[in-house]
Amino acid sequence: MAMLLMTPKSKGDAWVKHLRAQDPGLDLRVWPETGPADEIEFILCWKHPLGELKKFRNLKCIASLGFGVDHILRDPDVPPGVPIARLVDASMIHAMSEYILTAVLYHTRRFDLFQQDTSQRKWQACRPLHPQNVRVGIMGLGHLGVDAAQKLRLLGFQVSGWSRTVKHVEGLPSWAGPDALEEFLAQADVLVCLLPLTRETQGILDRRTFARLPAGAYIINAARGEHLVEEDLLTALDSGHLSGACLDVFREEPLPESHPFWDHPRITITPHSASLTDPKTVAPQLVENYRRVRSGLAPLHVIDIQKGY
Ligand code: NDP
Repeated sequence: MAMLLMTPKSKGDAWVKHLRAQDPGLDLRVWPETGPADEIEFILCWKHPLGELKKFRNLKCIASLGFGVDHILRDPDVPPGVPIARLVDASMIHAMSEYILTAVLYHTRRFDLFQQDTSQRKWQACRPLHPQNVRVGIMGLGHLGVDAAQKLRLLGFQVSGWSRTVKHVEGLPSWAGPDALEEFLAQADVLVCLLPLTRETQGILDRRTFARLPAGAYIINAARGEHLVEEDLLTALDSGHLSGACLDVFREEPLPESHPFWDHPRITITPHSASLTDPKTVAPQLVENYRRVRSGLAPLHVIDIQKGY
């Protein structure tokens, strides 16, 4: 039985080093040097070449090298019945919460305005927005959403959430399902997207969603670029209905040089770096899953393929 790593070449060396550190005897192959395809039973992947997975007829698990699995499920040839495992990693959860806190504070402490004034050498004091007066609504109350919500609450923000199924998290008012979306949005001065990308959530940050937010709302998208309808964001910003946006993810990455977001004074761009996978911290759980599969156990953190996350 062998493990195959399918990841952009530039990142392969760190993965090999940290996976081998967990198990020096690991039969680890690195794409495209797969050896006989029938020997591969466990694949680690991030943005693999679509259509390639079907070549491995003895696959027992496909493991994502990120929290999301949308990059795997977009492959129409994922072998049916093979479990797909995602990552769950405390340091990545913490990193995402740091990012969300930074983005929220950047807006409420008016750093977005100061940045614009700086470029014009303009000295203009401006009162910050007080956390107790700012309602932050988090779309997605999973591993990332709940942690970010709890940390925002510690800073005094009024935090609420929205998920697919009803949640009972202490001190966190929340709504569930499409019927409750409007009510949730109506009370979100800052809207944070931490949803997985699925058929239901694709394009969810669109003009209808923006129209339901209070005037002056601020958008933070750290989930996936396909959640956002980019033209609708530009329209809502330019009409003045939205006050700004902080975006980590984009429909096309890297963001093309000619993209209008680059020049927009009220959009802050970060290059898909909210919470990067560190091969060192996640190698132990990947190798553990490999061992489990070899011993006939179900892998940990398996996603529901029907739900898409
Ligand atoms: P989880 O699977 O733990 O949680 C997903 C949450 O979204 C759940 O609360 C779920 O509801 C909710 N949800 C799913 N579908 C819907 C829907 N149709 N309507 C309402 N709520 C829905 O995901 P994580 O928190 O671990 O990660 C979220 C995403 O963040 C990842 O899929 C990935 O795309 C992105 N990400 C981005 C990173 C970056 O660097 N920019 C880094 C890491 C992740 P319920 O609880 O009811 O199931």
